[in-house]
Amino acid sequence: MKRVGVYYWAGPGTVRMIELKYPGVRVDVESYMRAYDEGVVEAMVDKLGITDAFLSYSWGFGEETEREDREYLEERLENFGRFKIRTHGYVQGTNLVYEEFFDQDLWCRDYRGRLIPYHRGRKMTCVNNPRFMELWLERVERLAKTRVDAVFVDNVLGGMVPVRVGRDRYVGLGCRCRYCKREFKSEVGGELPDWFEEGTEVFEEYLDFRERTMMAVVKKIVKLVKKEGKEFGTNGFDPKYDTRLMYGTDLERLLEWQDYLLVENHCLPGRTEGNSYLEGVIEKAKGRVFVVSYDRGIGREEMYGQEEVDAIWSEAGSLGYWPCYKASEFTTNGLWECLKVSNLKLPRKVKVRVMERVRPRRSLPGEWGVGMYNWGLVPVMVGYFENRWLRKLGNEVFYGMVR
Ligand SMILES: [Zn+2]
Repeated sequence: MKRVGVYYWAGPGTVRMIELKYPGVRVDVESYMRAYDEGVVEAMVDKLGITDAFLSYSWGFGEETEREDREYLEERLENFGRFKIRTHGYVQGTNLVYEEFFDQDLWCRDYRGRLIPYHRGRKMTCVNNPRFMELWLERVERLAKTRVDAVFVDNVLGGMVPVRVGRDRYVGLGCRCRYCKREFKSEVGGELPDWFEEGTEVFEEYLDFRERTMMAVVKKIVKLVKKEGKEFGTNGFDPKYDTRLMYGTDLERLLEWQDYLLVENHCLPGRTEGNSYLEGVIEKAKGRVFVVSYDRGIGREEMYGQEEVDAIWSEAGSLGYWPCYKASEFTTNGLWECLKVSNLKLPRKVKVRVMERVRPRRSLPGEWGVGMYNWGLVPVMVGYFENRWLRKLGNEVFYGMVR
């Protein structure tokens, strides 16, 4: 295996983020604070053979709040360098912690001008917003100037991910802040509709506009990072979906411009259908693909043991991708903790079970209800993220839809 990564969120920022996302949960703070210690890193090299580590730098809190997070990382980079591990600093993408920026206008808006939640306590931000772009690029640049080897940008999202209604209608798609509306009008002409219908001219025009804007931003970031001579990659999410429609990105360009693509999905080998669907992407990327697969997802994943490690390692070997082990935010019996490497041995080759899975239809019924869905989307998202009982219910109802 050429490269083996570890997806490894830790330090004070990660503890703060978990507590923001899931208030009241039990967090093994010590395991998050010791995560980048030399002894732990050494054990990861011995047991998992890691060559790359994705490490927390900026979660999207305010500058002052994040000072301790930056220091935490910078003071520990050496612990990875000692073992020749390539360090990838993590910068949050298009969302920020609302409370830390509530007095600024940085936000995406829906068709009624409402802010769009990105998990609890966070709101989505817009790449057409000049103040947000300034803030974001500053963070990327500052990270690129540290001693990290690579910059990794997560959540490169062009506003809201669409929700399909019936066969061919979409609510939520993209952003309707004043900057987007103005840019769209001046570049393309015309107003943004409240919702979209597939096959219409404005739908295609908007998807083009959104992708163009997003890729121009990615290009800017590539330039910034390359100027400092660092590697660059983004989270490509799950390429089983149409990335242009879902996220606003052009997968081909991402593969071309970046040093690698990271795929984050719900296809944990051995427990799900696995990652064989990525073969085309891996081939196109000449193997430069890290894959982080979950079974149930963040906050719902029990500590991995030897079985999971063996399955990931074996599948990566046979499909030709770079495995990236999720190594933090495990929740076993409700306790949030980092991967316990001491329980592991070097992975061995196993036959990976491939599960058949029927995917539920990913659209809401009743085309006549498109206006109602559009109106209700943001309040439902807010309810889901802000209320843990609604979230539990939602997870049970939609379990399988998001995998
Ligand atoms: Zn916007």
